[in-house]
Amino acid sequence: MKMQQIVVRSLPEAELRPDHFEAQEVEAPSTGDGEVLLRTILMSIDAANRSWMQGATYREAVKAGDVMATYAISEVVESKSPRLSPGDIVGGEGVWAEYDVRAAHKLQKLPAVPELSNLISVYGIAGKTAFHGLVGVGQPMAGETILVSAAAGSVGGYVGQIGKALGCRVVGIAGGPEKCKWVVDELGFDACVDYREAGLGKAIRAACPDGVDIYFDNVGGAVLETALFAMNERGRVVCCGAISQYDSGAPSGPRNLPGLVVVKRLRMEGFIVMDFARDDAKATRALQHWVQSGQIKVFEDIVEGLENAPHALIGLLAGDNKGKRMVRVAADPGK
Ligand code: NDP
Repeated sequence: MKMQQIVVRSLPEAELRPDHFEAQEVEAPSTGDGEVLLRTILMSIDAANRSWMQGATYREAVKAGDVMATYAISEVVESKSPRLSPGDIVGGEGVWAEYDVRAAHKLQKLPAVPELSNLISVYGIAGKTAFHGLVGVGQPMAGETILVSAAAGSVGGYVGQIGKALGCRVVGIAGGPEKCKWVVDELGFDACVDYREAGLGKAIRAACPDGVDIYFDNVGGAVLETALFAMNERGRVVCCGAISQYDSGAPSGPRNLPGLVVVKRLRMEGFIVMDFARDDAKATRALQHWVQSGQIKVFEDIVEGLENAPHALIGLLAGDNKGKRMVRVAADPGK
């Protein structure tokens, strides 16, 4: 059986471009003992995909010649393992390809929910990263002010909505007036400031008259540097990611470190969502409650077709997504 896949032709030295990828038609892989053949349904498109091309992170690096790596939700079509049967829906490490073979024990069997995309967005990596980062690392208290960057993105959008549900004042940072308006009108943030406009520090101070108690940082670089100036004493800086640095040949960092951390007695802590796996059930219960009560709205940005995956990732890095971006490779079973 023939299938389509997308390979990393060469690694980017700075900005990621479509010619760094190549679509190929190849023979679908065959299964060995303990393995399953998977039909890819949805692929998560994450800023992290780009950082994997920079070198090893919390997972091994993606190299030139590799089929591009991803998190995928798939249907088991053939099984040589007693753990899984044809028709089962699973999530796990995958690749940009119509079919994939994986060891059954490395896959997580997923519940048959009406919209599988929710298992990538609100109940998947985006919602869990937001919950664990804000609740587990940031430890917000009602009445505090939370500032969050990439606020119209998948993680940032949930951070703000969770913050509101917990009784905090929430201010976003996003690119462009249209996105900022959307963050306030649709996601319910108290305010949102445009980092592409001059005077970001002044705008943050105006939107956060009582200062910032928690800064949830998705971007690093100049925005992090500016946000640090607005922190209150004993504030918490949740380091979730550094998207401003992933597509750059010349990384830049905040110049006010460690000075401001010392003077303001800040706690600056990074985390990886998997660190909190023991609390995943708690996160899912809380997120379900907020979705059912209408306190969290689910925004998904689904790009159709495997062949559009390179553009979906390049566009995410340029900020053309609202909500959780993913690529649909095949329809949900039963639809
Ligand atoms: P998003 O859906 O948030 O999309 C990324 C957004 O980042 C874009 O829409 C864009 O919005 C914004 N952006 C892009 N470049 C810049 C820049 N130079 N400065 C400021 N903002 C920029 O993507 P993800 O949800 O995949 O990722 C968000 C962050 O969360 C990333 O840093 C990622 O690495 C991190 N992450 C961390 C995890 C963890 O376990 N620690 C797990 C998952 C994600 P705009 O138009 O506003 O610029």
